[in-house]
Amino acid sequence: MAMFSLQDKVAIVTGGSRGIGRAIAETLAAQGAMVVVNYVRGESAAREVADGIVAAGGRAEIAGFDVGDMLASEECVAAIAKRHGRLDVLVANAGIAKDGLLLRVKEDDLDQLLAVNVKGALGCARAAIKSMMRARGGRVIFMSSVVAELGNAGQVAYAASKAALIGVTRTLAREYASRGITINAVAPGFIETDMTAAIAEPARTELMKAIPLGRIGTAREVAAAVSFLASDEAAYITGQTLRVNGGMYV
Ligand code: NAP
Repeated sequence: MAMFSLQDKVAIVTGGSRGIGRAIAETLAAQGAMVVVNYVRGESAAREVADGIVAAGGRAEIAGFDVGDMLASEECVAAIAKRHGRLDVLVANAGIAKDGLLLRVKEDDLDQLLAVNVKGALGCARAAIKSMMRARGGRVIFMSSVVAELGNAGQVAYAASKAALIGVTRTLAREYASRGITINAVAPGFIETDMTAAIAEPARTELMKAIPLGRIGTAREVAAAVSFLASDEAAYITGQTLRVNGGMYV
C-alpha cells in the first residue's frame, strides 16, 4: 500500500468547513479516510466541503456542534465514534482569534478564547481518546500557532490558548502512549485564510519580512503536515509540535 494511506480510517476535523480545517478534511479524505467535517455556523460551507470530497471519490459527512461547549462536543465526538464503530484520527483544529493588548483584554473574550481553543479541544480529545483506548491506537492532532512560541504583541489571550495546547500535547502524549495513541500539535505560521485576511497593509508587508521563505503559507501546506502525523508512518512521533511557518520561528 502507498505510504501515508488512511484507508478505512475514520477522522474528525473540527472547524473543517473553512480555511486550514477544510484543507485538512480534503487531504485526509484523499488519503482514504472517512472524514467528519465539523462546523458551528457554516453548515452550507461544511456541506460544500463534504460534497466536494464525495465528488472526488472520497467519503465524508458533516457534523454541526459548538466546540466552545465542552460537554456538547464531548458527547458529539462520542456519538460519531459509536456510530462508525471506531475513531482513528481527531484533528482539533477549530479555533478563534481575538486581538487586544493585555491592558484592554476583556474577561469575556479571554473566557471565549479559552473555551473554544482549549476546553473545546480537550472535550473532543477526551471523547476521542476513550474510543481510541478501546482500539488500542489512534492519532490526536492539536492546532497550535507560531504565536504560542514566538509571542505576538496584541494577541495575549490567543497566545495563552495556543501555548496551552503545546503543554496539553506533551502531557497527553505521556498519558496515552502506553495505549498506542500518539498526540501531536501542528503550529502554523502566517497562513492565508479568513482568519488572516483582515491583516491589512502595512502590517502585512512587515509580517512578510519576518518570514525567511518570504511568503504566506497555504492551508494545503499545513494539511500536509497533519496528514503525515495522522498516518501509520508517524507511529514513533508523539508529544511533538510540528512547525509549519516558513522559518518564522526556528
Ligand atoms: P478560519 O478560516 O477562521 O476557520 C475557522 C474554522 O473553525 C471554521 O471552520 C469555523 O466554523 C470553525 N469554528 C470556529 N469556532 C468554532 C466552534 N466554536 N465550534 C466549531 N467550529 C468552530 O480559521 P483558520 O485560519 O483556518 O484556522 C484554523 C486553526 O488554525 C485555528 O485553530 C487557528 O487558531 C489556527 N491557526 C491559524 C493560522 C493562520 O494563519 N490562519 C495560524 C496559526 C494557527 P464555521 O465555518 O462554522 O464558522
